[in-house]
Amino acid sequence: EAAKPSNFLRQIIESDLSHGVHAQKHWAGSPGDAAHHAAAAVDPAKIRTRFPPEPNGYLHVGHAKSICLNFGLARDYGGVCHLRFDDTNPEKEDQEYVDSIIDAVRWLGFDWKDPDGHENLYYASNYFGFMYRAAEYLIETGNAYVDEQTPEEMRANRGDFGKPGVDSPYRNCTPAENLARFREMRDGKLPDGAAVLRARIDMGHPNINLRDPAIYRIKHAEHHNTGNQWCIYPMYTFAHPIEDALECITHSICTLEFEDQRPFYDWLLDRLGEGGLIARPQPRQYEFARLNLTYVITSKRKLKHLVDSGIVSGWDDPRMPTIVGLRRRGYTPASIQMFCERIGVTKDYSWIDYGTLEGCLREDLESKAHRAMAVLDPLPLTLTNWAEVFGSDGHVEACSLPALPHAHEGQAVPERHFTLGREVWIEREDFAEVPPKGYKRLYPPRLGADGQMLPGNTVRLKGGYVIECTGCEKDAGGHVTRVLATVVPDTKSGTPGADSVKVKAAITWVGVQDGVQAEVRLYDRLFTDAQPDAGGKDFLALLNPDSLKVVTAYVEPSLAVAQPDDKFQFERFGYFVADRVDHSTSRPVFNKITGLKDSWAK
Ligand code: ATP
Ligand code: MG
Ligand code: MG
Repeated sequence: EAAKPSNFLRQIIESDLSHGVHAQKHWAGSPGDAAHHAAAAVDPAKIRTRFPPEPNGYLHVGHAKSICLNFGLARDYGGVCHLRFDDTNPEKEDQEYVDSIIDAVRWLGFDWKDPDGHENLYYASNYFGFMYRAAEYLIETGNAYVDEQTPEEMRANRGDFGKPGVDSPYRNCTPAENLARFREMRDGKLPDGAAVLRARIDMGHPNINLRDPAIYRIKHAEHHNTGNQWCIYPMYTFAHPIEDALECITHSICTLEFEDQRPFYDWLLDRLGEGGLIARPQPRQYEFARLNLTYVITSKRKLKHLVDSGIVSGWDDPRMPTIVGLRRRGYTPASIQMFCERIGVTKDYSWIDYGTLEGCLREDLESKAHRAMAVLDPLPLTLTNWAEVFGSDGHVEACSLPALPHAHEGQAVPERHFTLGREVWIEREDFAEVPPKGYKRLYPPRLGADGQMLPGNTVRLKGGYVIECTGCEKDAGGHVTRVLATVVPDTKSGTPGADSVKVKAAITWVGVQDGVQAEVRLYDRLFTDAQPDAGGKDFLALLNPDSLKVVTAYVEPSLAVAQPDDKFQFERFGYFVADRVDHSTSRPVFNKITGLKDSWAK
């Protein structure tokens, strides 16, 4: 495997490992506290990362970047990455999402096991008890207070950039008063919004996130895991550092929006470390730039709208940038991992061209996907001299082509077999009654400049015979319904006579007698605008009306046994996958993944 390009996170980890930063992990708290320590028993010299999704929706390609980054670093440095459900918000968290997230991470090729097999799959809500104790500890040490200002007062008193905030009148209550009030909050004595617990830091701090941030709020809501045990819930900014610390995370990697939260992350863990509540050295937060991909929306809310309004068929619609959507479209785990490696990790805001993702798929499938011929816009062609040449109209000629043209040295070249008979399907665009200049495919005999009749054009039916176009049939409206041609004897591919007639083109085709009818779903980008999610734009006005075209196609017989998820290169058209939901051998359905060339580059 090629060496991985370095990045700032790899440099930090390599430096930490070489200095043994995590090797002296020690536990200052009581043995009881260690029970909270999800990772207490593991080798402290190894790195520990985590992927912490909130189970409130399906993962998308942006999450894939975070998954590949966190699990990839753990894999590359002999560590472990935890899968943690960040379920501290009692609102709309669902088992359906939990299951889909587990499935998506596994499918991408990662797991969360320690070397001893221990599964590092955690739910942040299991730490509510510890978080509550940590909050009481902050109160006892004068580092937190219960604020009963109204939300409006709190907002007004927070100040602004360049304008210091104003201390709350509750800021100087004693620890005993605060503790009593906080316990009343916990015991359900106060309604939602009546009070919050705030960290006591500095109302004049230039970083507004340090102006006494709220760390606990009242929410009389049932939680999917803890039921009605709690009516107060920790804020994300308070919960997240604690989750990391309890799991002995070494490198807590998040997107740049959280950069301004890092001082609070450190402030909180410093306090809890001083109190012996968490092990040291404590986790550190690092930020990277989130993925922005052209033509794609990654807002969960907007994606949900596409699903709920029926604009797409579901979270796994092959046009969706969700991991289930990409999977159903035909993307492979290897191609998505390659993409995440290739786009790299930086702290710079940028847009990645969608073509980069497609390029990775082509690169992955080029040497793996079996070739096949498919006719997507079928027009029948009859070889009128068939019986004359082969003795009967029913005769068929066995043909074959390599299924993988570029098999590696020593690798057996798999073959695909099909037959040529009197009638074949050709692509409608491969016939022109009046050929445009330079047209090399089928056209009928025509009058030359000197009044002489010129013969119809000859082409090779790929893997079969050379044929000569003799004419066509049309319906009353002048629409071509059938092409007529003759087969040129002794020109079969792979036989000594194959080169006896020179042709300028070989066209793809499928035999009428053994071709398989299939539904082919031709997908295109969902939006016509490269940045449909950018500020102020109405993404619904930017939908591509032609993002799905369904055609009835014919595919060669080797595809009759295709299984759901099998991927192919349809010669000349690109990569296709047997739809994992709707495809069966009795009703074949193929999705277009991407074309053979980058059609997205401007
Ligand atoms: P929400 O709006 O619900 O918070 P979210 O996209 O932040 O949605 P999370 O479940 O919190 O979803 O995300 C899990 C992890 O995935 C986070 O650590 C987050 O930083 C990361 N992540 C989300 N979107 C992207 C993206 N576009 N690029 C890279 N990482 C991302
Ligand atoms: Mg989030
Ligand atoms: Mg978000």
